[in-house]
Amino acid sequence: MELRAKLLNREMTRLLQELEQSSLERSVRAWGALLWAALQQGQFWALAGVLGLLLWLWFIRSRRSRQPDNNGEEEDREEGNNVVIVQQEDNEDRNEVRNVGENEEEAGNDAAVVENGSDDGNAVEEEDNAENGTLDIGKILEGHIQWPTQDLERGCEMTSDIMDIFISVFGHLLSDSSYPVPQGAIGVGSAFEGWSPREEDVVYCFLVPLTPPAGHTFHLEMDTSGHIPGRNFFLRVEPVCTCTREQHDENMVCFVHHPEEEQRRNEEPNFRNTLCTGSYLDVEKIARWFYQLVRAAWVILPHSQNWQLVLLPSSRCCKFKVTRGTQSFTVELLFGVQQGDSDIYVSSQPTEALFTPSTMWPETYAVAEMKFFSHVAKQAPHDSWHLKCLQLLVRAVVGIDFSTYMMKTIVMHLLNTIPVSRWGSRYILLQLEDSIEYLRCSLLEKRLDHFIVGNQRVPEEILLPPDVKTAEPPNLFHRLAQDPAAHTQAMMEYQELRDRIERIVLYGH
Ligand SMILES: [Zn+2]
Repeated sequence: MELRAKLLNREMTRLLQELEQSSLERSVRAWGALLWAALQQGQFWALAGVLGLLLWLWFIRSRRSRQPDNNGEEEDREEGNNVVIVQQEDNEDRNEVRNVGENEEEAGNDAAVVENGSDDGNAVEEEDNAENGTLDIGKILEGHIQWPTQDLERGCEMTSDIMDIFISVFGHLLSDSSYPVPQGAIGVGSAFEGWSPREEDVVYCFLVPLTPPAGHTFHLEMDTSGHIPGRNFFLRVEPVCTCTREQHDENMVCFVHHPEEEQRRNEEPNFRNTLCTGSYLDVEKIARWFYQLVRAAWVILPHSQNWQLVLLPSSRCCKFKVTRGTQSFTVELLFGVQQGDSDIYVSSQPTEALFTPSTMWPETYAVAEMKFFSHVAKQAPHDSWHLKCLQLLVRAVVGIDFSTYMMKTIVMHLLNTIPVSRWGSRYILLQLEDSIEYLRCSLLEKRLDHFIVGNQRVPEEILLPPDVKTAEPPNLFHRLAQDPAAHTQAMMEYQELRDRIERIVLYGH
């Protein structure tokens, strides 16, 4: 170990000299090798030292590269913060090295090298001026951090295939009935946005739009009681006059002008007396109906030859798993009704409240958010790390009171304001820093605005109904504004989150 430490020491000195002469990029490769060598030897103090230096080099670089477009007050502020953080991290790394150094002589030498590196800033800045190399911290973190291993693309493809066939089979089964016909399922949620909130158990979520059967319309009534947070609706089923349209069709008698016909039909099972409660569409009844449809249609699917279908219990959606050997995909079907031609639906997902009435349909932004992520993906450079940034944040909040959705909201706000070119892998530390800084400011204000509702800056290709656009944005931190104890707790958890992210970047887990 002693010899190893001496070798490392010599290698670091050599690398520092090389830094003055050769391109930054070439030495980064060598630094990477050194880093891995240190990791394999379990020499975490050395690893911390090397990483500290790398972080510092990177910050110097990013600070310099930010200067040309530094034309606003906000940029000034951000830059100030970065400088502070550089110093903090630098100091922490030095402390860490020093603490170890009390016990080990070699570690003391190492500390000296690291500090030398810090004082060697002029050489590095000259190197930067030459602009002949770029330090991509993302490339180093790519292999250093453990990322979720699921193949989301394959899962999305496989489950979309199954859903396409299901929907076309449902269409055939229901074409002559008086039941709503499910439309093409829309893949929504994290898997279809390209990230995953958990290491395992990916749920592939689909929104299945329902259109009213002929002779009926769904009328949206907003819940104004104020008992349940969010924008929630009831779906009243109303007959519409079909006299002129469907006169020739014997099956289609106008229920408005022939109420006796509707009365007669109500004596046999139809969609109004099986899927509604009173005049309102009932989520739980629709969920049960969907389970029957899925079970009945499965045998027709080619997948049923090799895969096994397991229905999973749920009252407000239809959840199932298809398995083959050790492979399995979990699918969750939410039902929705589209608001006009927009990307906003009311859906069967539960509300924030403990109990959601079966006739209540909360507004969902899942389709709009999925479209936002694909809008970003179209513009972002191929090495964009915005999803990895979100993935890191989401992993860091496990067990903390900040929700996955809060982190996603913050990242969406930032994606909508910071140019896509700033989300490349080399800017990952800035992205993380911006995200937790956004969280800090939101905590201080006790206000985190919803990304879709009331946001005038949502890209135009995402279609919002006028009242969603002009609504007062819901505050995701409303609980903190009402409860001082919760706010104090959240500030402590913010600090914990910061520490966790630093740990993930430094140690990879
Ligand atoms: Zn009529």
